[in-house]
Amino acid sequence: MRGRALSPALDAYDLSHGRCPADHQALSLKPFFDVIVVGAGHAGCEAAWAVARLGLSVGLCTLSRETVAHMPCNPAIGGTAKGHLVREIDALGGLMGQAIDATGIQFKVLNRSRGPAVWSPRAQADKKAYRNWMRTTLETQAGIEWVIGAAAAVLVEGGRVIGLRLEDGRVVRCRALVVTTGTFLNGLIHIGPEQRAAGRLDEPAVRELSASHQRFLDEPAG
Ligand SMILES: Cc1cc2nc3c(=O)[nH]c(=O)nc-3n(C[C@H](O)[C@H](O)[C@H](O)COP(=O)(O)OP(=O)(O)OC[C@H]3O[C@@H](n4cnc5c(N)ncnc54)[C@H](O)[C@@H]3O)c2cc1C
Repeated sequence: MRGRALSPALDAYDLSHGRCPADHQALSLKPFFDVIVVGAGHAGCEAAWAVARLGLSVGLCTLSRETVAHMPCNPAIGGTAKGHLVREIDALGGLMGQAIDATGIQFKVLNRSRGPAVWSPRAQADKKAYRNWMRTTLETQAGIEWVIGAAAAVLVEGGRVIGLRLEDGRVVRCRALVVTTGTFLNGLIHIGPEQRAAGRLDEPAVRELSASHQRFLDEPAG
């Protein structure tokens, strides 16, 4: 989504209204970035890295620095389809291939008993080492800053994205926004007859951003 720069309308937002979890204090929140990336999963880390390497400033919005590049359960990189994807990202100068080379504990080519069309490289990672490697690499790249918090709403003016509001009320402005929030928006867990709102294990449900997307989609175009 492309956005127009700075809008006076945003000055009306209360920039100081933040509930600050521990890691907020250590990390200043810049009020403007060229690009904001929401979600520091696989896609978000690559997006932030690519933007920073273009020489632009990027705010990488994540619920916590502890969950950067966190893998859901089986900590595998690759497999059928994804193995090709990771190699393409690698060829473009991305991070996943480097990260798994540095932190992999088992490397295998799957489907060797079948034809070459379905061979697929797959590596198992040390889950903790993988996310630490990714976080450290992003932190040493000039231009990337953390925006710690849950994204709540994409701010749009005149049909263009101008910024992001976090659930704690803070507002960050940007020229462009990349949303890579994975598969857990408006997440619902089913355990037997019980249903409850939840994100990935140990992560809260993300409700407000889903509602913001819905409002954006409901708006008539033009
Ligand atoms: C149970 C399960 C098992 C899987 N097993 C495998 C496997 O073995 N091998 C494999 O290759 N793939 C596996 N996958 C798929 C793989 O995890 C996904 O394809 C991959 O994580 C998608 O990357 P992503 O960056 O799009 O999303 P994610 O990795 O999910 O990252 C999205 C990030 O956005 C953050 N986020 C969400 N909402 C907000 C918000 N409002 N504000 C700020 N941050 C936000 C989340 O906290 C998360 O960190 C599995 C998926 C699941 C659900």
